Amino acid sequence: MGKAILFSAPSGCGKTTIIKELMRYFDCFDFSISATSRQPRGDERHGHDYYFLSQEEFRQRVAAGDFLEWEEVYQGTCYGTLKSEVERIWAEGKTIVFDVDVNGGSNLKQYFGQQALSIFVMPPSLEVLEQRLRSRGTDSEEAIVKRLGRSAEELKQAPRFDVTIVNDDLQKAVDETRRVVEAFLDE
Ligand code: ADP
Ligand code: 5GP
Repeated sequence: MGKAILFSAPSGCGKTTIIKELMRYFDCFDFSISATSRQPRGDERHGHDYYFLSQEEFRQRVAAGDFLEWEEVYQGTCYGTLKSEVERIWAEGKTIVFDVDVNGGSNLKQYFGQQALSIFVMPPSLEVLEQRLRSRGTDSEEAIVKRLGRSAEELKQAPRFDVTIVNDDLQKAVDETRRVVEAFLDE
C-alpha cells in the first residue's frame, strides 16, 4: 500500500485549483481520475479530468463492482472512485491525489486509514463561495443552486478531516497545503 492525499470540500471552494498547483510541485503525485455521469464542462477532457459515462454505463460499472466508493453527489449525477485508478497509481509507486465530495472523503479516509491524509478546503465564507461558483462561469444557474444547497451542511463536516485549509489568499493556501503534505510524506 502506498500513500494517498484526499481533498474534499463543497464545490467551488478551490480543490481543483489547489491540486493543479501542487501537481506541479510534487513529482510523486498522480491524480485519481473519477468517473461521473455529468457532462464535461469548459475544457474538460475524457480520461484526463474525468471518465465521462452515461447514466447507464455508470450503473453497469457499479453492478460490476468497479468502484471503491461512489456517491450520487447531486440528484441524478453520480461520481465514483475506480479501483483500477488506485491499482494503476500505486503500481507506479506514486502517491494518489483524490478530489472527492465530503462523504467520499470520509469514506476513503476510513478505508485508507493512516496511509491517507484527508484535507478539507474551506472557503472564507459562504458569500465568497457563491461568488466563486458564479465567476467560474462553467455552471448553469440550476447547477449553482444545487451546489450551494449542499454547501452549508458539508462545511459542518470539516472537523472529521485531518487538516483544514482556509482558501482565502490562494498562494497562502497552496503554501500551507504544501507544508502539511510534505510533513505527511516524510512520516
Ligand atoms: P472546486 O474544485 O473546489 O469546485 P475550483 O478550483 O474550480 O473549485 O474553484 C472555483 C473558482 O474559484 C474557480 O474559478 C477558481 O479560479 C476560483 N478560486 C479558487 N481559489 C481561489 C482564491 N483563493 N481566490 C479567488 N478565487 C479562487
Ligand atoms: P464537479 O462536478 O464540480 O467536478 O464535482 C462535484 C463534486 O463531486 C465535488 O465535490 C467533487 O469533489 C466530487 N467528486 C468528484 N469525483 C468524485 C468521486 O470519485 N467520488 C465522490 N464521492 N465525489 C467525487
